[in-house]
Amino acid sequence: MNIHEYQAKAVLKEYGAPVAEGVAIFSADEAEAAAKKLPGPLWVVKSQIHAGGRGKGKFKELGADAKGGVRLAFSLEEVVTNAKEMLGNTLVTKQTGAAGKVVNRLYIEDGADIERELYLSLLVDRTVGQVAFVASTEGGVDIETVAEETPEKILTLPIDPDAGVTEEAASKLCDALKLEGEARADGMKIFPVLYKAFVEKDMSLLEVNPLIVMKNGRLRLLDAKVSFDGNALFRHPEIVELRDVTEEDDKEIEASKHDLAYVALDGDIGCMVNGAGLAMATMDIIKLYGAEPANFLDVGGGASKEKVTAAFKIITADPNVKGILVNIFGGIMRCDVIAEGVVAAVKEVGLQVPLVVRLEGTNVQLGKDIINNSGLNVIAADDLDDAAQKIVAAVKGGN
Ligand code: GDP
Ligand code: MG
Repeated sequence: MNIHEYQAKAVLKEYGAPVAEGVAIFSADEAEAAAKKLPGPLWVVKSQIHAGGRGKGKFKELGADAKGGVRLAFSLEEVVTNAKEMLGNTLVTKQTGAAGKVVNRLYIEDGADIERELYLSLLVDRTVGQVAFVASTEGGVDIETVAEETPEKILTLPIDPDAGVTEEAASKLCDALKLEGEARADGMKIFPVLYKAFVEKDMSLLEVNPLIVMKNGRLRLLDAKVSFDGNALFRHPEIVELRDVTEEDDKEIEASKHDLAYVALDGDIGCMVNGAGLAMATMDIIKLYGAEPANFLDVGGGASKEKVTAAFKIITADPNVKGILVNIFGGIMRCDVIAEGVVAAVKEVGLQVPLVVRLEGTNVQLGKDIINNSGLNVIAADDLDDAAQKIVAAVKGGN
């Protein structure tokens, strides 16, 4: 689960991390009062959406010359004009996709005088099975580009969970970020604090880009992007409260209600599969034959007819879906249950696109009979390879 920048900063502030004073607003009427609570004379008006790259982003409704989604304001009037211009409009950034995201909240922040912009993040490093810091002097820019072009400028530092962030580890990070004097003293305090917040709150990502050295020599978290491990949210009701469903994909919200593992993607072949491994393999093979999956969907082992029906409805509700591939290996899941769910869903919502079904395993004949006797226009497939080729051909052929 993701949260907004201002929420992430509030969480980190509780742990003692240095962030600017700021006020979140939901309408332009609140802009002036919010700015007045801050000292000035520099304010920053920041779009709150669940995506990065806001500064360089562009608003769809405004011209190409208009400023981006993070703006400096040098007077109260400028705060208000910018707030009016940004709220309600659609911000397109590198991370939002072409559709962009509507800005419904702004964060008005006390502006900082920046000396240097650094990069710092914490993530779960699966290769070593530990939480790791990633640090670079090249902050404020796309870290992926730094990783590609100048990987020597990035330090990845896994943290031993028993020892935590030792003085030695913190020093290494300070060295990598070239921190001196007060900034170094700040760093020595901040790194353990961020690690503590990461572990205690079950974060899966904490990205501070940029972490800044200010003109006064001190460190500050200028940006904060935090994701939490969904499987641990039951331990953090205070974090669940921060959820902003308007930022999430409607289909993913619907899927989570039915306990379906669903991730919306950009392609045009809807997939209904059981088992995460088979779902991944199905997506791979669709790509192998030259098409793109519209989603990842694992209906799970013991799915009921109702769950399968819900899954099928979610897939068909996606206007990008030009064809559907049902690929089931019935082990615990029975093929007849899948078949009944598919038939029930099609009867309810209709079928506007080609449907290829590949069933194998428990009660496979029963499942095939249900589909064959349903009168539905289904293309049957024998194996995964055959199924993928048939759905790609059906979608590309446009029939
Ligand atoms: P992002 O574009 O979504 O990553 O948003 P950031 O919060 O990282 O802000 C983008 C950029 O705006 C930063 O890299 C800074 O260059 C600039 N910026 C943000 N806040 C301030 C501030 O307080 N003072 C100054 N001078 N620049 C800022
Ligand atoms: Mg940033």
